[in-house]
Amino acid sequence: MRDFPLSMLDTANSENFWKDCEELLHVVAANKISSPIFGQRLQALVYGRLKKAVDANKIETVDSVDHAALAVGRRTSIGTVEFSKFSTPGPLLALQQKQRHLANEGKGSPLTIATDTIVQRFETDPEDPLNRPSILHTSRGALRFSKTTTNLVLAAGAFPNTTILMNSVGEQLKGRAGSRVSGHFLTQIVARFPIPRSAENPERPLSKHLEIGAHYMAGKDSTSDLQYHVQITAIHSPRPETDAEDAARLSPDQAGAATFEQLKDSGQHIVLVCAALGELDELDTGSWFKHDPNNPDVTTNSHLQVLLSEKAERLWDVMDQVTYDAINVMAGGVSNDIEYWSHSNVPSVPPGWSRDQPPQCMIRVPGIVHETATLYMSDDLETDPHASVDSDYRPHSCHNVFVTGGALFPTSGSWNPTLTMCGFAQDLAKKLHEVRKSETSSPS
Ligand SMILES: Cc1cc2nc3c(=O)[nH]c(=O)nc-3n(C[C@H](O)[C@H](O)[C@H](O)COP(=O)(O)OP(=O)(O)OC[C@H]3O[C@@H](n4cnc5c(N)ncnc54)[C@H](O)[C@@H]3O)c2cc1C
Repeated sequence: MRDFPLSMLDTANSENFWKDCEELLHVVAANKISSPIFGQRLQALVYGRLKKAVDANKIETVDSVDHAALAVGRRTSIGTVEFSKFSTPGPLLALQQKQRHLANEGKGSPLTIATDTIVQRFETDPEDPLNRPSILHTSRGALRFSKTTTNLVLAAGAFPNTTILMNSVGEQLKGRAGSRVSGHFLTQIVARFPIPRSAENPERPLSKHLEIGAHYMAGKDSTSDLQYHVQITAIHSPRPETDAEDAARLSPDQAGAATFEQLKDSGQHIVLVCAALGELDELDTGSWFKHDPNNPDVTTNSHLQVLLSEKAERLWDVMDQVTYDAINVMAGGVSNDIEYWSHSNVPSVPPGWSRDQPPQCMIRVPGIVHETATLYMSDDLETDPHASVDSDYRPHSCHNVFVTGGALFPTSGSWNPTLTMCGFAQDLAKKLHEVRKSETSSPS
């Protein structure tokens, strides 16, 4: 969390910060998932090889390797599904039910969900010295807030949050909102190697069914100080015709899933899908998110530009090399055994396995993912003219409006952002709850 303000670091270091968000997302390490598909021999085999190499500094610039931490769907008492990925609607509907019961008992307020509703912008009350929001404009009409105590929490993702604010209180955030853009660039390399004959533990061969392993390897380019991580999905699929669908559904990430074509002739191989993510250089002023008042659609009237600074370009080269080095380690150091998946832009040349590393243009994914920093937080908005949100999650000069999500992060690091976002969103919820409690308990 390089260059995060002290308030965010203190929050992240506070008791239960990580525990609470891990509980919310039901985070489980891949080697602890109780499923025949996860946490098995393949997981141990790949982890053992990587760990040994990382501990011996055999992969340059890598700091750590671990079993991947996955957000896992909860199992129910009657559930027969062994493993499912976390998905928001279930927990959200559970919260709605809980609030309904509490409201019925007079102990809470109901949680109302409006579907098919696009938030366009909000208006503040010109007569209110605190500039609090009084109207929310949506695709289903305007919603007038009857109380000045109504809070508006923007949780629409980094770019939409920024667009809503630029359309609502743009003047107050001039030079701040969207002046910084960070996030991750992405490389995806798919490789395979034959199942080792003299595996480390011959008593426990790979299963006769689909096995998936998930690992997380992190490092930093010492010259630029920018971070990267490589998420590795290892797949052993003895029966691709029936495994492919499960493999696609159960793989930890869309960027970590193998296709049926890749699994088809790989029954005697271990397939590695490596997604490497590096952080953009947030200080590069060539990257920005700007308001476009000429576009009449207020939900999309913004322009995004992302350029790669020299530092980021260097990191990308380092990260790609690390990924190839890690593949070599996972294949037991036998580089002749490794094949890479190549897809050609020429329709007459079919995609397939090759001993040659694919050209750079085939592995580097255009665009950015995990976008952050467009409304980054600062402990002192007066001394940082480009920061948008104060340490109470409030945009500059706004009251009763709050921001959640990756837009708050001043830098993106290389780590997957959702857990941290959830942690800060929970912190905001606790802070708002404290304020509401003190308001209702103070004598009028
Ligand atoms: C393919 C893919 C894979 C990913 N994998 C990972 C991963 O492995 N680990 C990880 O940590 N992160 C991952 N991410 C990133 C992660 O999904 C996001 O960082 C995270 O979901 C952001 O959370 P959020 O609540 O801020 O925004 P979102 O999850 O984007 O939620 C915002 C919601 O607001 C709604 N919305 C937007 N605009 C409006 C509007 N104007 N009015 C009303 N509603 C609106 C959207 O429809 C959406 O439902 C991945 C993302 C993608 C696309």
